[in-house]
Amino acid sequence: MTYHQKISGIFSALGGQVNLETLQGLKVTSPWTGENVAHIPIDTPETLTEKINRARSAQQRFAALPRRDRVKLVEAYATGLKAAQASLAEVIRIEAGKTSKEALGEAVGSADVLFKAIADSTLADSGGMQRVKERPPAGVVGLITSFNFPMVVAHWTAGAALIAGNAIVWKPSEKTPLSALACKAVFDRAMPAFGDLLQVVIGERTIGEALVGNEGVDIISATGSVGMGKGISETLKRKKNNSLAPILELGGNNGVIISQHVTLEHLKWSVSSIMNSFLGTTGQRCTNTRRIIVHESRLNETVALFEKEIEQFMAQHSQSDLPREDNPFGYAALIDEDAFNRFEHAKQQAQKEGGRIVLGNRLADAVQPGAYYVQPALAVMPEQSAIMHSETFAPLLYIVPYKNLEDAFVMLNAPENAGLVAGIYTLSQQEADSFSARAEAGHALINSPKGTGTPAYGMGFGGNKASGTGEILNSADPLAAFTRPGKFTRIAQNKDIPLT
Ligand code: NAD
Repeated sequence: MTYHQKISGIFSALGGQVNLETLQGLKVTSPWTGENVAHIPIDTPETLTEKINRARSAQQRFAALPRRDRVKLVEAYATGLKAAQASLAEVIRIEAGKTSKEALGEAVGSADVLFKAIADSTLADSGGMQRVKERPPAGVVGLITSFNFPMVVAHWTAGAALIAGNAIVWKPSEKTPLSALACKAVFDRAMPAFGDLLQVVIGERTIGEALVGNEGVDIISATGSVGMGKGISETLKRKKNNSLAPILELGGNNGVIISQHVTLEHLKWSVSSIMNSFLGTTGQRCTNTRRIIVHESRLNETVALFEKEIEQFMAQHSQSDLPREDNPFGYAALIDEDAFNRFEHAKQQAQKEGGRIVLGNRLADAVQPGAYYVQPALAVMPEQSAIMHSETFAPLLYIVPYKNLEDAFVMLNAPENAGLVAGIYTLSQQEADSFSARAEAGHALINSPKGTGTPAYGMGFGGNKASGTGEILNSADPLAAFTRPGKFTRIAQNKDIPLT
């Protein structure tokens, strides 16, 4: 069965109102094979405005419901996502090129973050009183998402935004629109009376710009590159309805210091811990480790250890030359040719800037001409040069030596996009303390078992500097982002007295 047939089957089972057969419109391909999976209709400025208007009128009815009823509807949607998780995972797997395990994790996570948003929306019970904070909703939320987490990241926003009484107009990445359309199908079934509350708009960057600039959209929640964040900020400056600050989750040029104060055993453990966040999702995660800043006395050992780890990883795939579905890192193909070209460009630029490239060749291009499988690459650099200031969204890890810790901190923080996650591997308490004080990233991880890959949940998630402005997931008051200042009511109800 072709991917096209699989996708068609999934959409007919979900009841999605999507025509996959048009030979015009946005072409969706699968990174696994380069196969054309679907063509889907693209929105125009007129259909965008129509969808925003429909979202607005549904939002006004929805916000008028008691909060308890809104929460029940969000719960129905979460339950629908959970029931459809296998199909949703298959859509993610096919269009985003994720492994089955990663895709399922994302589909399961999409329902889970909604259930969590429901739990978080009620404050801890105090003296028998169930407590909530009620504020006026923002209105219509413009939601923009990136290709690498085509489903779960949208639901970080959707949970809080819907419970707060908002409508959502979702513009998914042009590379992965089917995940959003599949969620829309589930939403329409779960909330038949409020289907218009979630709209999906399809298109490239220009339709995203039109969404941001539309006066009918009250707040933007967007995940993508630093360039996208800057573009959105510029558009908002020209808009009248811009009093609510956007929530921006942006790129991460995540650096890790490896100190001289490590034993060989700790160094080996550190390198294998970092492999997780180097290779995760084929280097296409905002939290991937991109720069290693290592004490000069440990440079050669560190490079040799990374080389060995990569060779061992690739050796597991030697039979087919392609990364296998069941690898632990979710390592597969790059999303598309553009991503491959950027990987190639970054390697060439690193060489021009004095670097030495280890591995990083394209795999199996003769077998799968439209798919872009690569070996992970190391770039051993003499200093932190210009190319190391940009985020190349691919499995490319720069390794650069430092002489003293002060230099390491300067390098760690120098790129404007180094504001998401930073790490240090050291056995010195003093170094760990200095790192905590000096790291400018939103997450500063000391001897993390997963490199920069898994931020410490329970503390919110978000970047500093050019890496973002938002903190929705797990923040202390997630709904606050999607409400308006002004009227603020703290409601407390005695939970021991049943009402009929
Ligand atoms: P991208 O910036 O190319 O596109 C993201 C989305 O924004 C797409 O839907 C695109 O069409 C839209 N867009 C682009 N420019 C726009 C503009 N000026 N106005 C409105 N919409 C615009 O990003 P991508 O390649 O899809 O994703 C990778 C990037 O996302 C990386 O930089 C990664 O670090 C980042 N990311 C960040 C997080 C986070 O939580 N911080 C999570 C995932 C991905």
